Amino acid sequence: MEGRVYNFNPGPATLPLEVLKQAQQELLNYRGIGMSVMEMSHRSKDFEAIIHEAEALCKEISGLGDDYRVLFLQGGASMQFALIPFNFVTVGTTAYYAVTGNFAEKAFAEAQRVCPAKTAVSTAADNHCRIPAQHELKFPADAAYLHITTNNTVYGTEWHYIPETNDVPLIADMSSNIFSRPLDYSKFALVYAGAQKNLGPAGVTVVIIRKSMLEKVPDNLPNMFSYKVMAKQNSLYNTPPTFGIYLVKLVLEWLKDLGGLPAIARHNREKAGMIYAAIDNSDGFYRGHAQKESRSLMNITFRLPTEELEQKFVTEAAAKGLVGLKGYRTVGGIRASVYNAMPRAGCELLATFMDDFAGKNR
Ligand code: PMP
Repeated sequence: MEGRVYNFNPGPATLPLEVLKQAQQELLNYRGIGMSVMEMSHRSKDFEAIIHEAEALCKEISGLGDDYRVLFLQGGASMQFALIPFNFVTVGTTAYYAVTGNFAEKAFAEAQRVCPAKTAVSTAADNHCRIPAQHELKFPADAAYLHITTNNTVYGTEWHYIPETNDVPLIADMSSNIFSRPLDYSKFALVYAGAQKNLGPAGVTVVIIRKSMLEKVPDNLPNMFSYKVMAKQNSLYNTPPTFGIYLVKLVLEWLKDLGGLPAIARHNREKAGMIYAAIDNSDGFYRGHAQKESRSLMNITFRLPTEELEQKFVTEAAAKGLVGLKGYRTVGGIRASVYNAMPRAGCELLATFMDDFAGKNR
């Protein structure tokens, strides 16, 4: 669409144009009720239908059944860093964390503030350029849970297997790769994601939780901290982020119409493949941060020969309508975030730009 750029920002990130258009079309008068979704009561039948549909779509897309609930909360993924230990670490138990990036570090640090927490593994010594193998994960059979971050947004690494935990509940921060490919979601006791990358706008956090986990939640938690209270009240204990939930519903409908997770996975492999090919075919001009077998299909991180060239790359790319490519300060360089909604044409244009830029600046 004229005037829109290709937005490679890590989040908030690009949304499907179809979704934005539908929201625009329904903005002033949602389905003839005479008001926008922003203006309707969260207790109205119309809004209840929206949140109910959003939950049903999450379950349908992830292939989960009635033994799971989907919650729509506030506070971002960062709030869940604290709520998870509050809800699931009982006296005498310890939480375990696979520390594979800076949000994993934050989740671990936050848990340490409220409960006994230990690392199951850390890849800090390798500057988080890889995902650990199963045999590197160390946690006891009575661990409260194992927490992993399935995609490391800053470092550009992604878990390509689900770790085996036997009876230890597996909890995953999927903020930056939820619903990007088929996955056995039933292996997870709890999955959470800030919506602002693959699901919708900032302000709503999706939590998918196995119902049996709710039985572990202590009764003396403040209500706003309790997954049990939120599940019992269908995420309507207080006023939820109504417009954000509506947009999540539209994004999930878009994803379903596209063919769900198998279709989006093909799309994502092709898109990321073009950019990784530009790195790999550059005779070392571009250096990927992630080890090849740990590469993320969502966040592609790489360096150029000098910081001056990196700055030039970002500036010249922006002039071509390719924006949001500057890397995070701890990794430096370039990061292209290519979530579900990034069109193939954006990745094609970026890959061509990379080839050209390398040719001219070698
Ligand atoms: N986890 C991951 C993997 C993230 O990428 C981010 C945000 N970039 C967060 C957690 C923090 O999310 P929020 O800002 O919603 O708290």
